Amino acid sequence: MTTTRFAPSPTGYIHVGNLRTALMNYLIARKAGGTFILRIDDTDPERSKQEYVDAIQQDLEWLGLTWDKIERQSDRLDSYHAAADKLREMGRFYECFETPVELDLKRKKQLNMGKPPVYDRAALALSDDEKAALRAERGNGHWRFKLDQTRINWTDGVLGDISIDAASVSDPVLIRGDGQFLYTLASVVDDTEMGVTHVVRGSDHVTNTATQIQMIEALGGTVPTFAHHSLLTGPQGESLSKRLGTLALRDLREAGVEPMALLSLMARLGSSQPVELRHSIDDIAEGFDIDQFGSAPTKFDVNDLYPLTGRLLGEMDFTAVADDVASAGVPTDQAEAFWSVIRENITTRKDIAGWQDLFENGAEPVIDDEDKEFVTQALSLLPDAPFDGDTWGNWTKAVKEATGRKGRGLFMPLRKALTGQSHGPDMSAVMPFLKTIKARG
Ligand code: GLU
Repeated sequence: MTTTRFAPSPTGYIHVGNLRTALMNYLIARKAGGTFILRIDDTDPERSKQEYVDAIQQDLEWLGLTWDKIERQSDRLDSYHAAADKLREMGRFYECFETPVELDLKRKKQLNMGKPPVYDRAALALSDDEKAALRAERGNGHWRFKLDQTRINWTDGVLGDISIDAASVSDPVLIRGDGQFLYTLASVVDDTEMGVTHVVRGSDHVTNTATQIQMIEALGGTVPTFAHHSLLTGPQGESLSKRLGTLALRDLREAGVEPMALLSLMARLGSSQPVELRHSIDDIAEGFDIDQFGSAPTKFDVNDLYPLTGRLLGEMDFTAVADDVASAGVPTDQAEAFWSVIRENITTRKDIAGWQDLFENGAEPVIDDEDKEFVTQALSLLPDAPFDGDTWGNWTKAVKEATGRKGRGLFMPLRKALTGQSHGPDMSAVMPFLKTIKARG
């Protein structure tokens, strides 16, 4: 059965880059009728925070990306110990004692000699006595997985055929000196024991994949299908890594971005298929195809989310916004009609309250100098509120007769005087809601 997972580390809020990973894994599972696991990669006790675990779940729930199972790596340490023992028994795991400074020096020397900075495996030559002495002096060592120095090949769901020479990669550290398991091993154990069949993640993990394939094979697991999506850049192709902090999902939610707008964009951005606004995740899942994604960096512009949000709201049924309309103070008997007047003239739900305020309290009028006299004359012809569906037609007809103005020169100054804006809903439909005309002074 198809099983995927989204595996964030709870060390911060998740952002649009994480969402891409989450969504792709989610859609693969849903499309196949499989299982989607939320796996919390919290092996680092110092940086992992419960606050972020909660926030990750809230963010995914907001988007409707529901998980079938939740797992935490901190609950699974026994399995990681067992895997480490197995690797030790097989002679694929060795203890090293170099300090970060020593390792750095080794790397610099190699680079100076024009060699790739690959760990030289000096620790493999240590005798038991030497290790005991180092342990006494420096404390427990860190443990590295001994790679088989062959080529590691896989067919990547996005990148195609990949072949990496294991000799060009350092033996990965899987346990730190303080005993902390690193994600690299934990992930392999989890993916194997949880039956994960497909792993989609960012292309920054390609080298990890190479080493993890060897670990999975050593531990007797089945290698899942790997796919590495490209990383997001800003609209100009600039790196997003520093700005991702400002593109947290909770900030987008706060700014009024609609979940389906965000999901519709992220499900297609970087693929050869056009972005299409969808109203349900099932619809998105149906049209999702990871083969259509390219390896080139994907440009993301947060501003693209607002027109999509506006369009989505414009197409939304009243029931989906009834609560927002009610909390804006629109009386229940007018709520549905109110919605149909404003729905195509909002960018986010926050604008709902703005329209209600405008209708109740009037807008600051915008009157161009050359229209001042005209507007004053026109307003003297406008009856008092309440208005109805005929008010606009009758009024503008009377104004036309009195002033001789017509077309845009007639309608636009009146719209701007009444609503303070040059765009907006049909004025005949606006009038019955408008209770205050500030331009009357
Ligand atoms: N915790 C890892 C990360 O956030 C997971 C990577 C993976 O999907 O294997 O980068």
